[in-house]
Amino acid sequence: MPYRAWFECFAGCGERYPLDEIVYECRACGELLEVRHDMDALRQTPPEEWRRIWDGRYRRTEWPYGSGVWGKKEMVCPNVADRNIVSLYEGGTNLFRAARLGGIVGLENLWIKLCGNEHTGSFKDLGMTVLVSMVNQMIADGADILGVACASTGDTSAALAAYCAAAGIQAIVFLPRGRVSTAQLIQPIAHGALTLSLDTDFDGCMELIRRICRRENVYLANSMNSLRVEGQKTVAVEIVQQLDWQVPDWIVIPGGNLGNVSALGKGFLEMRELGIIDRLPRIACAQAARANPLYRSYRTGFAEFRPVKAESTAATAIQIGNPVSVRKAIKVLRTFDGVVEEATEDELANACALADRTGLYVCPHTGVALAALMKLAAGGLIGSSNLVVVISTAHGLKFSESKIRYHEGKLPGVSPRHANLPVELPADYDAVRDAILGAVGRRGRGA
Ligand SMILES: *Cc1c(COP(=O)(O)O)cnc(C)c1O
Ligand SMILES: [Zn+2]
Repeated sequence: MPYRAWFECFAGCGERYPLDEIVYECRACGELLEVRHDMDALRQTPPEEWRRIWDGRYRRTEWPYGSGVWGKKEMVCPNVADRNIVSLYEGGTNLFRAARLGGIVGLENLWIKLCGNEHTGSFKDLGMTVLVSMVNQMIADGADILGVACASTGDTSAALAAYCAAAGIQAIVFLPRGRVSTAQLIQPIAHGALTLSLDTDFDGCMELIRRICRRENVYLANSMNSLRVEGQKTVAVEIVQQLDWQVPDWIVIPGGNLGNVSALGKGFLEMRELGIIDRLPRIACAQAARANPLYRSYRTGFAEFRPVKAESTAATAIQIGNPVSVRKAIKVLRTFDGVVEEATEDELANACALADRTGLYVCPHTGVALAALMKLAAGGLIGSSNLVVVISTAHGLKFSESKIRYHEGKLPGVSPRHANLPVELPADYDAVRDAILGAVGRRGRGA
């Protein structure tokens, strides 16, 4: 069966382009594009058969189908020949029940999808494998592309750099100087990317890169490039697959540029079109209060949307005031009876620390999602027996600096309720014994 996919104008003006054309926005109306699939061709295979095929490939060895993304190749990007695929075995990250944290926040059925266990430590790998594979194919077909570039809050650049390094393609990354963690800065450097550290914020990097990519032979890898959304949408399929094809009641996801929430929604809608699922979850998108343009729009019933100047937040990956995918995200939230919640610096940092106390090790963005979840559960919108999945977007180890500052009480605007500092002692038996007995007796352990 010949599966087909193409770019199509998201505003519905009918413009279409092949996936190997260098185009990011509709040439007729300027709106974002989205990848559309020949759903009739996909529907030739019945849903039970798709489930069987996907389960048969999941985390197996037959390259590249063991990848969580390429295992769903027919509905992701059938246009790339297997030989051009650049895969680091994306997806297949753990979905686990966070029983102790759930107990503390009053949820019996709380699950965490740990996208931080991707190869480069964030969900960005899911989309980057698709984009870099397509570029790899375009280069193989003779396209003149100098390199692939992205503006990043730290994780997109790490993923782009790794996938380009795996393919032998030049990566160029634009980072806001001083606003990404040490781990995120060293990732593209280690992979040989041309790393431009610019004296501006993410929105400033984004504006520059759009101009560069419009004029030079540099391919744009930001999420306005809808190839990334195709890879990222597989998280929806994978969650349902890992729950033995049950659909959760709620999915909570942090949002910055809003590509990921758009991708999540697209994944569920296409599964429903194919008959794989028969209902949709509700979606809660969580924003940092210091970078909350979608939250403000939600408060107007999405009647209006105004970009904001993003203020500094520990949730650096979502410190975005003018999200590229806002219209896609609003459409998804309307379709999924969605809500938007926000979290202050104090709320997000304490949510992180509380989760860490229960054995998780979360990034600040997941802290935003968890703080939002706690508010929605306390308000009764999310019910105690609901099946809830929180998308944990990056690995906590990338964010050691902000965790250390939390425990030292040095995060601005944060009163650390779960601080736990190392006890410095001489190497002396009595001092050590007193410290152990004193600490354990005095405050008990755990959360
Ligand atoms: C990119 C990113 C986000 C936000 O995703 P958007 O698609 O920009 O909304 C959240 N958390 C982490 C860790 C990220 O890297
Ligand atoms: Zn258009």
